[in-house]
Amino acid sequence: MTIHHHPPEELLVAFAAGLLDLGQHVAVATHLVGCPHCRAMVRTMEHVGGLVLADLPPTAMSVGALAAVEARLDGPGSSLAVPPRVGAGLADVPGLPPFVREYSAGPWRWIAPKVHLRAIQLPVASATRVFLLRSRPGTKMIEHTHTGFEMSCVLSGSFVHAGGHFGPGDFDFGDGTDDHEIMIDSAEDCICLVAMQGDLKLNGMIGRLLQPLIRM
Ligand SMILES: [Zn+2]
Repeated sequence: MTIHHHPPEELLVAFAAGLLDLGQHVAVATHLVGCPHCRAMVRTMEHVGGLVLADLPPTAMSVGALAAVEARLDGPGSSLAVPPRVGAGLADVPGLPPFVREYSAGPWRWIAPKVHLRAIQLPVASATRVFLLRSRPGTKMIEHTHTGFEMSCVLSGSFVHAGGHFGPGDFDFGDGTDDHEIMIDSAEDCICLVAMQGDLKLNGMIGRLLQPLIRM
């Protein structure tokens, strides 16, 4: 697997600093599992971040701080809570990292001709939705923009747009400034893990007709 497209450096910095919400974290971590180059960068950033923290003068903890942390760890929103295990439903998705297989997922839903979507339920609330998108060979995705950002990790198959060609392991980051006209150019289905915030806006007449049908 040769990876040509990586997350922007700011995103890796935010990942290393623990600033991403869970949905964003899942998308970047999915890329990191297959990308030694980005894993090395994140390790370096974490090391530098640790040195900066070590240089800071110690601060006294407030009274009750430890109890508050323990209460959060035990609470329903705890990041340490064991995610629901459904797994079997995601076992048939090629290229999905094992940690994502631990999450539960809904059924494949039709969202547009030759395109199906499968929502992944994260164990804690996240402003970023995560889903799988499966597109048949030859699918031309309707030109669209979005109001937030969109991160796509290619699991299998490939697509092409003005920003280049994206195959397994590649990471595509769209921040809503680009118009996307995407073509699935692989002989097999293209399956991506997508993390998205905001709304998708379809351009053109067919897009406006389809817009009410599409809930991404
Ligand atoms: Zn990478």
